[in-house]
Amino acid sequence: MLSGTSWAFNVSEDLWRSYTWQIQNRIKTLEDLKRFIDLTPEEEEGIRKTQGLYPLAITPYYLSLIDPQDPNDPIRLQAIPRAVEVDPKVQSKAWADPFKEEGQIPGLTHRYPDRVLMVVTTFCAVYCRHCMRKRIFAQGERARTKEEIDRMIDYISAHKEIRDVLISGGEPFSLSNEKIDYILSKLRDIDHVEIIRFGTRLPVLAPQRFFDKELLKILEKHSPIWVNTHFNHPKEITPLAQEAVDNLLRHGVPVNNQTVLLKGVNDDPKVMLDLMRGLLRIKVKPQYLFHCDPVKGAVHFRTTVDKGLEIIDYLRGRISGMGIPTYAVDLPGGKGKVPLLPDYVISREGNTFTFKAFDGSKVVYTIDEPL
Ligand code: SF4
Repeated sequence: MLSGTSWAFNVSEDLWRSYTWQIQNRIKTLEDLKRFIDLTPEEEEGIRKTQGLYPLAITPYYLSLIDPQDPNDPIRLQAIPRAVEVDPKVQSKAWADPFKEEGQIPGLTHRYPDRVLMVVTTFCAVYCRHCMRKRIFAQGERARTKEEIDRMIDYISAHKEIRDVLISGGEPFSLSNEKIDYILSKLRDIDHVEIIRFGTRLPVLAPQRFFDKELLKILEKHSPIWVNTHFNHPKEITPLAQEAVDNLLRHGVPVNNQTVLLKGVNDDPKVMLDLMRGLLRIKVKPQYLFHCDPVKGAVHFRTTVDKGLEIIDYLRGRISGMGIPTYAVDLPGGKGKVPLLPDYVISREGNTFTFKAFDGSKVVYTIDEPL
């Protein structure tokens, strides 16, 4: 019996630390889930109604983070479907693909001139209820074929303006080590590709993937590789998550975090402060706090922009600048992200500014022109 999992699983530590075991034992049906949690009527209805559209899968590890007594547990809200995901009254103001990611080449998005996104699989260890790419999950769990990957690589090779490639999904680290090595080798053969990043949630959902020495060596071999991950709540910062991050860092892979602001999960300044402090403790840099996108099936997680600004304002003065993410909203029509900041300039006359300091006080400061 392992701490934190005693209510749920009774397995050896070796199995618990095995990524393959975690994936093979994902909870994917209503009946399976009921063995572990007393589901609410809304959850039962949600699982039934979302079937075939927005799948259910939860790793034993992620499930073990849930407090089964608390229907509003923040992990539970992210992992267990609710009927609101398919309520037309709620979801009708949202879009399946608000950012127009789907382009000419399947799986490839070329939005900014110097960057591309490669969606290499539709598989995820856990299907997060707030996912901005929920539309792809109805396709079933499918990794891109070698031919499809080659088509993306050929495009990148032919476009010399591309310096930065983000490999994402679905879950890109669900691909085999061999396939990951293949993609990275091909990208490293392209002179103009300088930066390779992975968008992965496995440090949160199945950190055991990063206990695989062979994978870590592959990432080190193709350095510099960056990882963007996705912690949303302090409960997700566990010893195993820390071990995964540590392994990545020891193999030269910096880990940045992108949190999504989610109603009921983390729309609370104190929770967000705990999260950012926890991330710094495990050496993960909080990079972005994203305003939740108007994605069909996830729009019920949206908060107001004022809530996001309130959180950023609260963080300032309570944590060093290193721990304050950039709050950003993704513009519709594929126009990219814009940062949002609370108003720190209350008024200005010429070079005399009235600023709002972190403690709420007003400070008048004349900033002279440079000589
Ligand atoms: S792991 Fe990422 S891509 Fe997969 S469902 Fe969660 S948020 Fe979406």
